[in-house]
Amino acid sequence: MKHYKIALTIAGSDPSGGAGIQADLKTFSACGCYGATVIVAVVDENTIGVTDVHPIPVPFVSGQIKSVLDDIGADAIKIGMLHSSELILAVKDTLSRYSIKNIVLDPVMVATSGDKLLQDEAIETLKSELIPFVRVITPNIPEAEILLGKKIRSQEELPKVIKDLSFGNRVSVLLKAGHLTGDKLTDVFYNAETNEIIELSSQRIHTKNTHGTGCTFSSAVAAFLARGLSLTGAVKHAKDYINKAITAGAGYEIGKGHGPVHH
Ligand code: PLP
Repeated sequence: MKHYKIALTIAGSDPSGGAGIQADLKTFSACGCYGATVIVAVVDENTIGVTDVHPIPVPFVSGQIKSVLDDIGADAIKIGMLHSSELILAVKDTLSRYSIKNIVLDPVMVATSGDKLLQDEAIETLKSELIPFVRVITPNIPEAEILLGKKIRSQEELPKVIKDLSFGNRVSVLLKAGHLTGDKLTDVFYNAETNEIIELSSQRIHTKNTHGTGCTFSSAVAAFLARGLSLTGAVKHAKDYINKAITAGAGYEIGKGHGPVHH
């Protein structure tokens, strides 16, 4: 019998197809997994920005998670935009009934366009309830600054602050450096299970097509974990995938704003 590894995303829907659930599902397929999706919010957005967010009723989100996990299960889960405290608590409560180790949390807060995707009052709930519950978090610089409560000014600071994001060395952290300036871009990964810090360097790819890069990167980590790679191996493969996805999509003209990457 052929075994197909299953990756589940719990996130918001982007009708323009570049971010959120749609990016996650395309990434799962491209990275060799069967993808399943639980939608927590329908976002009215495109490559230019977010117009509105329509959250799905909380019992309906819990119901979708149960429907997927009771039937097909999941080898890894990626959690993206959760919008509110109620949704964060419901997702944690439902997932805690299953023993799934590979949970990747992208602490989505603000879109590239500057629009808020997580309510301000939900940030504390994310920190106290969900982050300590997952295997790895994938903040970008603005998200890390909010979690840390302080500014990050340079690349040199990343290896110093990364452990402060690990909640007492319990949670691994992939800190994405794309928001810093410079032609060399070095993401930093702290593996809390081996207590190692690894630098993942690449040349910056100059393109406006960056919509959904965060979603794609975290989904790729989940897909490679589902396929049985080590944590560090999954992060390295995901970095390679996101670089190739941005490079391949750099020349596309899709939409009037920040276009998507290529999956
Ligand atoms: N829309 C949805 C539904 C998302 O989950 C995310 C995730 O980060 C975004 C938009 C943000 O996309 P970007 O910041 O790449 O524009």
